[in-house]
This record gives sequence, structure tokens and C-alpha cells, in this order.
Amino acid sequence: MTELGEGRSIPRRDVLQGVLVGAASLLTGSLLRAPRADAAVPATDLPGYYPPIRTGLRGSHPGSFEQAHALRDGERLGAVTDTGEMYDLVVVGGGISGLAAAHFYRARLGADRRILLLDNHDDFGGHAKRNEFHLGGGLQLLNGGTLEIDSPRPYSGVAQGLLKDLGVDVPALARKVEHRKFYAGIGLRQAAFFDRETFGADHLAVGSGFAEDPDRGKATVAQLLAHSPLSPQARLDMARILEGALDYLPDLSGEQKKDRLSRISYRDFLRDVAKVDPAVLAYYQAITHAWWGIGADAVSALDCWGMGYPGFKGLNLPPGAIRRMGPTPAGYKTTGGSFKLHFPDGNATIARLLVRSLIPESMRGASAEDVVTALADYGQLDRDGTNVRLRLNSTVLNVAGTQGGRQVNVVYVRDGERRRVQARHCVMACWNTMIPYLCPQLPEAQKAALHQAVKTPLVYTSVALRNWRPFARLGIRDAYSPGCYFSSLYLNSIVDIGAYRSPRNPRQPTLLHMIRTPCAPGLPEFDQNRAGREELLATPFSVFERNIRGQLTRILGPGGFDPARDIEGITVNRWPHGYAPEYNPLFDPDVPPEERAHVIGRAPFGNITIANSDAGGEAYTDAAIDQAYRAVAELPGA
Ligand SMILES: Cc1cc2nc3c(=O)[nH]c(=O)nc-3n(C[C@H](O)[C@H](O)[C@H](O)COP(=O)(O)OP(=O)(O)OC[C@H]3O[C@@H](n4cnc5c(N)ncnc54)[C@H](O)[C@@H]3O)c2cc1C
Repeated sequence: MTELGEGRSIPRRDVLQGVLVGAASLLTGSLLRAPRADAAVPATDLPGYYPPIRTGLRGSHPGSFEQAHALRDGERLGAVTDTGEMYDLVVVGGGISGLAAAHFYRARLGADRRILLLDNHDDFGGHAKRNEFHLGGGLQLLNGGTLEIDSPRPYSGVAQGLLKDLGVDVPALARKVEHRKFYAGIGLRQAAFFDRETFGADHLAVGSGFAEDPDRGKATVAQLLAHSPLSPQARLDMARILEGALDYLPDLSGEQKKDRLSRISYRDFLRDVAKVDPAVLAYYQAITHAWWGIGADAVSALDCWGMGYPGFKGLNLPPGAIRRMGPTPAGYKTTGGSFKLHFPDGNATIARLLVRSLIPESMRGASAEDVVTALADYGQLDRDGTNVRLRLNSTVLNVAGTQGGRQVNVVYVRDGERRRVQARHCVMACWNTMIPYLCPQLPEAQKAALHQAVKTPLVYTSVALRNWRPFARLGIRDAYSPGCYFSSLYLNSIVDIGAYRSPRNPRQPTLLHMIRTPCAPGLPEFDQNRAGREELLATPFSVFERNIRGQLTRILGPGGFDPARDIEGITVNRWPHGYAPEYNPLFDPDVPPEERAHVIGRAPFGNITIANSDAGGEAYTDAAIDQAYRAVAELPGA
């Protein structure tokens, strides 16, 4: 245990606090106010309140969900203090959908409208969270959740219009700031790690595109697997899947093949149709984790074909999507997807741009480039006398129409105190599954539909490394590790934007992105999601840390990695309620799209309407924006 360095303190946190308290004082002009010792919830207007630098368990961090779970478990509202605050609009949820709803409301009804946004987390952005590190004196950023602008279909006019309002010209910025081929250009390749528990021996197979990328270079699969622990049969089967062109379903027409593949999982396709060795099944089990948050046992073979996974070449399937496909593969298959752009902190930059546009005092600057390094002044988010207020650490417990539906009462809890505010309108930009508890007045059929939105749990971990020489020595930029606790890891993307610069030299510190999707293979998707969520909430930071240190040692150790020496900080972004659920032909009823649960669930209710990506049935930023626009447009009088 000690050789993994778990006992070693990570001093960066203390250094950081010093740096940022200093930086925050430049904004507030004062360091004199000491933090309230009795405050269970830190006041956002105190110097040093700067959540992006917090390490340890983040995402749904301790303190953000307990009140909501107590409500779910039947706790009553109890005594409520009336604040006397009255708004035009209260938005529940400070993610991109909630922030976009505030933006659209002002655009429709005027910038003088009084808006309050409430969010249960200590930072804004919802899944679009910023992880900020200061390594060797330099700023380094990673996305704690939402990775990038990328959707299965082109952004709608509404979503593009919002980006334009925020000054984000996606194609132009992508050309200017992104360097997606940097690592390949210095010879670092994709890799796969075979772990001894699953495959018999630890082995790192280095070779571009070994997993799913068609760019595999000149090496054959047999060459890539030359020293792997796979048996000769498994190697042959792997090569057949990746390079072969067999028609496994010769008796079916193209459309019949597609229908058949939409009714079996990718795992069943590989096992029962392509008849591969069990080790090959084990290898592909986690290949779907990053896109769907579940394994190959719970994603249809046709959806995997839609995303370009191997094994289908010889089937000669006709192009295009069918109704029995999830929106992600169907969208990419038919449109090729949207434009793409990765900011250093992912789509947290969009959240920050929205916050700056709603509350200009909170961040300096005027462009999508300067916002990346702008220090947010959290003390400006919830100030008396401003038209837009963003109140963090505030869990909404009840939303009820009053006065014949002309007014809405919203009760939230902050710092243990239940408080009531009033509004003319309310947009629920939170998670669908929570809404029936918050709005018990809703019709039963709508509540049942909302409850069906079981989100996918997943973990995005940011690991600060002293340098990335082990990657350079091994010649790798990432590793797919299907049998390990984290099923993949990636060196941080290279993006230079505004004053922000990514590290180019392996001797420099960098950030590593590691993904874990807790699932329970064999169960229906939503049961896997529930099991994964329970697991995440029961897992202490120490378990994540031990697994990070252990896994990195096994993969990078041959490249000289020493976890005690080389790990500078760890932020575990845990998302028990992660991706919005999307239609899955293996488990969901085969009903027309307009009869799906998310459509029934998002019906307006008096002066209360429903936004959030759940309401779009798609885990994408443009869905969150489009749903915000619809929810605002549905408000009576808006
Ligand atoms: C790990 C991860 C990676 C992703 N990557 C991408 C990507 O690369 N590209 C992409 O387009 N999309 C991605 N997504 C999807 C992402 O969810 C959407 O892009 C978008 O950010 C969702 O925004 P939202 O506002 O609808 O929901 P959220 O971001 O979930 O915001 C809702 C907010 O409401 C809050 N809330 C819930 N209940 C209450 C309550 N009772 N009181 C107060 N507040 C409450 C929540 O805590 C949350 O902060 C990713 C999602 C995850 C989890």
C-alpha cells in the first residue's frame, strides 16, 4: 500500500488555496472577512470560495444530494421561512439547460426580468464542471463532466444561435485552438492494457486503433497481439473481428439483418453470431462504456454497427438508420454529427460564458477565448439588487402553483434552513426523476413518465501528474483497459486558447483523464444504472485513490512511473446521475418517438415547465439548450 503512495500527503491543495485566495482578493479587494467557523455550507461571497480547484470527491459531492434523497425517502418539508423574495422566473438547476433557460427568458421578456437560479451543488454548470489545477505554477484544466461540443446531429438553429450570442464560432475556434493530432505527431499511439485477472498476465499492447479506430497504421492485428496473453484462437478471432469480412447472416436480407441486430446485444452478436473466443468477449465488454456508460451486454449490436465498432464489415448492411436505433448511433449514421470543439475545461466554458452573460460582474473579459483563464468571482453570483441571481448549495424541495396557477411557490433548503421564494414562472431544469418529488401536484401519468428517466452513472477522474515521461517512454497517449477499475485513460487534450497553453514537453506536469462506469452486466440497463449509482455513493475516495494508484502503476510502471512520486493531485468527479437516458431498443418499448417517456414527462403544468437534457431524451449539450428554449416558450405569457 505504501509503495502506491497513498500515505503521502498531496501538498498541492494547500499551495493552491494560497494562490487562489490571493487571486480572489484581487477581485473582492479584501481578505479581511474570515470564513464563518459555524457555516455548514460555505458562503459563496467569502474570499477563497473557488470550487473548481477542489480535489477529492467532486461531481455529486458530499453535501449536494442528501436533502434530495431525504425528500425521496419521505421526509416532510417542516417549517419554512418566507424570504419575501419575488422573481419573474425561478430556475431549478444551474446546469447548461437552466442557464440557457435564463438566457432565453431574458431574450424574450427583457433583460430587466428578475431571475433566480437554484442549484444543489457548490459550483454552477451541472455536469459541465471545471477541474482546475495549478501545476508547477501553470494553470491546467480538465472537464469534470461534459467533455465537448459534439452531438450526433447538427446543432439546431436555437443551439447555434445561443453559441453565437456567447461569441463561440465553433469551426473557427476549433481550427485555431485545437491540436487533436499532436500526440500522434510525436509518435504516441493508442494502447490496450490486458490485465492478469481477466487475461492471465499484465500486458500493454501498443498500436494505434487497436480498439475501434480504423487508423491502425501498418501493423496487423497479429503483430499487435504478438506478445499478448491471448491464446492463439483468441488472436485469430480478434483479427477476424477487426480485419475480416465474413457475412455471419448470409440468409437474411440487409433490412432483416438490421432488425435482427437491433434485438441482440453486441456481446451476443460476438458470442453467438460471430462465435468468438471468451477472451475476445472480455476484451470488447467495456468498449461501449465511454459512449453509453454500460457494457456490450446492454447495447444493441446494430447501435454498435452505427458507431463503427468492428465485426460487421462482411454483413454489407444498407446505409442509414432504422427506428430501432438509439439517437446517438442513428444521428451519427445519418448526419455524421455536429461540429466539434473541446475547450480545456470541456463545456464548462459554455456554462461560464452563460454565467458571465447573465451576471457580468462575476467574470472579466469579453470573448470565448479570454473566459478560459478568467477567474470567476463567486461573491457576485447572488447579490441584492441584481436582476439575475445564482444561488448555489441550495436544494429545491417543493415547487407548487398557487393563485389559480398564476404564481409559483418554490421551497429550497440551504445551510439546513428551508426557505420560500415566489415567482411568476418556474422552469425545472433539474433531473426528471426528481421532479415528481418536487411537484407532487403533477398528473400521475406524467409523474410515472418522469420517474422512468434513470440516468447513467459514471466517473470522470482528473489525475495531476508531475510529468508524462512514462507515456513518452512507452509510446502511448491513452490506454483502453477493459478488465480494470477504470476502463480507459487519456492524456489531456492539447488546446491553446487565449492565455491558456497545454504542456507540450513530457517533462512538464499534465493532467490525466480516467473513466469508470460502474455497471452490473447481465441486468437490464436501468437496473445496472441503479446498481452502479448505489456503488458510487457507497465508495469512499480512498477506494478510488487506491485503484488509481494501483492501475497506473501496472500500466505505466514499465515506463518508470512511480505513484508516490508522480501523482500530484486527484479529483474524482462522481456522477451517480450522469447521462440522460436514451432510447435503447433492447429494453425500451417499441413505441413511436412521440409516445416515449421523456416526451410525456415534459408536458407543461400551469406556470411550471420542464427543461434539461432528460426532457430531450439525449445526453447532449444541444439537447439541454433546445429543451430550455422549448420550456421557456411554453411558459404562459412568455
Ligand atoms: C460525464 C459526462 C460527460 C458528458 N459529456 C458530454 C459531451 O461531451 N458533450 C455533450 O454534448 N454532452 C455531454 N454530456 C451530457 C450533459 O449532461 C449535457 O451536455 C448537459 O450538460 C446537461 O445539462 P443539463 O442542464 O440538462 O443537466 P445538468 O448538467 O445535469 O444540470 C442540472 C442541474 O440541476 C441540479 N438539480 C437537480 N435536482 C435539483 C434540486 N432539487 N434542486 C436544485 N438543483 C437541482 C443538478 O444537480 C444539476 O446541477 C455529458 C454528461 C456527463 C455526465
